[in-house]
Amino acid sequence: MSITAAMPTAKERLRRTRTKRVSHLPAIKLSSLLPSHIDLRDPLKASLVCGDCGTWVPVTGMQSKTQKLVPHHTGKAGVDAAIRCRSSNRRIEWDMTIPEWHQALTDAVKEADSRTATTVLPKAFSPATDQTLRARAQRTPAGRLADWTAVLPRVAATDAHRQTVPAGDAPAQSPAVPLDKLQINH
Ligand SMILES: [Zn+2]
Repeated sequence: MSITAAMPTAKERLRRTRTKRVSHLPAIKLSSLLPSHIDLRDPLKASLVCGDCGTWVPVTGMQSKTQKLVPHHTGKAGVDAAIRCRSSNRRIEWDMTIPEWHQALTDAVKEADSRTATTVLPKAFSPATDQTLRARAQRTPAGRLADWTAVLPRVAATDAHRQTVPAGDAPAQSPAVPLDKLQINH
């Protein structure tokens, strides 16, 4: 044996197997799985997510008496180490019809959609802010004008504030503050 020989890696999963072996573990009930962990779109190419290794495994024997998960390794074919999954050759109990599975899957998808809609909705900006942000993102003269328009009311308000001198605050013995220079020219 060569020193460089690689460790055996997980094998591809065959859909049809000849083995008569059946796992001693109890049969997997379809109703015990998440609808999204069952694929019966093409009943002759059914697959399930194996509860033991958490990977998609083809179901064999769809046209014979017993249906089983095919013998499989736990990891990715050709990448992970060849470790046999204990749920290999495990029987499947069809306690759910295909229309029932389809309905359960549809309901689960609807449920997930409604949950997403309530949690992921972005916070709405005011129309003015939205307009400013859009124009700014475009970096156009219109954008700069929009920036200026957005900030003008605040500038005017600040200047107006500056010009109001409370009575009694003006120093009695010094020249008056030249207020006329603080006017803004539109
Ligand atoms: Zn498995």
